[in-house]
Amino acid sequence: MPRIVKTVCSHDCPDACSVLVTVEDDDENPGGARAVQFRGDPGHPVTRGFLCGKVNTYEQTVYSSERVLHPLRRCGPKGEGRFERVSWKEAVSVIAERINIASRESGGESLLQYTYAGTMGLVNRNCPNALFNRLGATQLRQNICYYGADEGYRVTVGSGYGVDPEDTVHSDLIIVWGSNVVTTQVHLMPFLDEARKKGARMIVIDPYRNRTARVADQWLGIRPGTDAALALALMHILERDGLLNRDFIERRTTGFKRLSREVLPRFEPARAAKLTGLSEDDIESLARELAGASAPLIKVGIGIGRSTRGGGAVRAICSLAGFTGSYEALGGGVQFDTGCEFQLELDSINRPDWLEGEPRSLNMTDIGPALCDWQDPPIRFLYVHGTNPAATAPLQARVHAGLAREDLFTVVHERFLTDTARYADIVLPAPTFAEYADLYKAYGHLYLQYAEPAIAPLGESRCNLEVVQALAKELGYDDPWFNLDTREHARALLSGSHPNLEGLDPESILAGETTRLNIPRKTCGFGKRFETPSGKLEFYSSELEAQGLAPLVDYTEPAEEDLERYPLRLITPPAHSFLNSSFGNLEKARRREGGGPFLLIHPDDAGEVVDGDLVEISNRQGSVRLSARVTTDTNKGTLVAEGTWWPSHGLEGRGINLLTSNRLTDLGGGSTFHDNRVELKKI
Ligand code: SF4
Repeated sequence: MPRIVKTVCSHDCPDACSVLVTVEDDDENPGGARAVQFRGDPGHPVTRGFLCGKVNTYEQTVYSSERVLHPLRRCGPKGEGRFERVSWKEAVSVIAERINIASRESGGESLLQYTYAGTMGLVNRNCPNALFNRLGATQLRQNICYYGADEGYRVTVGSGYGVDPEDTVHSDLIIVWGSNVVTTQVHLMPFLDEARKKGARMIVIDPYRNRTARVADQWLGIRPGTDAALALALMHILERDGLLNRDFIERRTTGFKRLSREVLPRFEPARAAKLTGLSEDDIESLARELAGASAPLIKVGIGIGRSTRGGGAVRAICSLAGFTGSYEALGGGVQFDTGCEFQLELDSINRPDWLEGEPRSLNMTDIGPALCDWQDPPIRFLYVHGTNPAATAPLQARVHAGLAREDLFTVVHERFLTDTARYADIVLPAPTFAEYADLYKAYGHLYLQYAEPAIAPLGESRCNLEVVQALAKELGYDDPWFNLDTREHARALLSGSHPNLEGLDPESILAGETTRLNIPRKTCGFGKRFETPSGKLEFYSSELEAQGLAPLVDYTEPAEEDLERYPLRLITPPAHSFLNSSFGNLEKARRREGGGPFLLIHPDDAGEVVDGDLVEISNRQGSVRLSARVTTDTNKGTLVAEGTWWPSHGLEGRGINLLTSNRLTDLGGGSTFHDNRVELKKI
């Protein structure tokens, strides 16, 4: 008899969809069960019964013939992908032996766990941290995704969810700034559509006409990295024309006088037009629309943060919303990331108390140089899970060179033989989210959910917790923590005393109830107080000043070398059918993305190039070949390469991250994937 099991999509996505899996008896495997359908759970207040196109046929991922189903040991050169099957016992024994050798000979810092949000399950994503803390391994700063944007937000308005996504229906002007909501947060769209039905206009500010811009009322094609200049020009106009909310500014902000005196005079619309590539008219009319709305919403995307001035850009946008005072209007203000509200007891799973001293740390973006250059000690043991750095990390040539080192022992715990796994000494089989239990938070809404497995793990795949437990046993660790099961860890995570958890019933959450944090509906995230040191929105930040950084919101043009040689800007936003590098192995997903990597080129930059031509883009780091799409969907001067295609699916085995650098953002030490200079030529 078919039965329905409720679970959660674990992919790195704000929505954390509640999923209903239809499970049937498996005819080929007596006593076993098979997942035959994945669909959205209509009972979830935000994800409301539909899944994105990546997951609504997830049974094809679960039962893909490409799944790694048994532990494997390398039996060919690194990178070639030749492996032989071994038992779990043997794999665990070899891994523990290599950990012991590296630790004994070079110290704990010669060990590195390299991971990101391959699973968003709080137990499985985090439990390896405890083991690597106990081992004294090099610490990983997971700065690769949103840190630039997050830091700009935090120092300006503090940690907080801003606008509840469910309250965005009350907005009367929607500005989607640097975000492709249709692709990356699709469950926000029905709420925005509801606001639009009531009359809100939707404007998308983005360097290219992405899927969201195509369904918006207006697209403003801004030059990449100049968002702060636009926000400051809008503030300039609001002040010039007496359209700002003086009452709000006086009550709830700091530093306005200095901003007004020292910064805004430099951002007259004519200059901003030159910097941003927008017309003066568009800038003036956007300012008027903002001033005329009673609850303007700015949906800020993570992508804005991924450029050299990315932190400052988000800081300026948060400041702009202070000029209109929209933070006090239901549905108005800035919507960024709700993840900070899930104040769970994370120390219980991460075990920072097991760290002795302060081991060195690695910013994720530096994995290539770390593997190639670090000494005292060099990285000798690398454990990768939940990420695919051979495709996703910048300085790709160096990442591959580092992974190819013969004196590096690499373990990859994965569902598929990724380009990183092809370099591994041992590959361990990982389950899909249908096959393990976990507790999930979101970063696009305010609901927690626990899920039990819908089906048994395929083949011999094991979740992170089981691998950590097996390794701990082999290494001789007998702390009772290593014997806790997923429910016990989840219960510990829920045991925190933060007000957002007050009144929540852990047992009903563990029974699978979709449960909202203790944050009342229809309240503004920053309605009463900003979570900054002053309790106000900080145009001027003493915290930044103390760090030796510019304390006032501002924009300065980055000094760019070699503009003549590399005149074009390259951005690398997400593809609709991939999620980072996930799904990139599925032929169906690649077909939906056009069959191979492509480049959007404005007609004015195309020269002789026509649609379908093979082109090469290059900079000092290397060159990548893609198929050309000549279109006015991007700006003159901006090239767009959508999606993190696996290098093995690119031409000549090269991925787009050959061209991206490990330069960091102005704030937060984040990645700068959208800030690259290249030249273009026809092949
Ligand atoms: S990837 Fe995101 S939108 Fe798609 S099913 Fe998973 S959580 Fe939902």
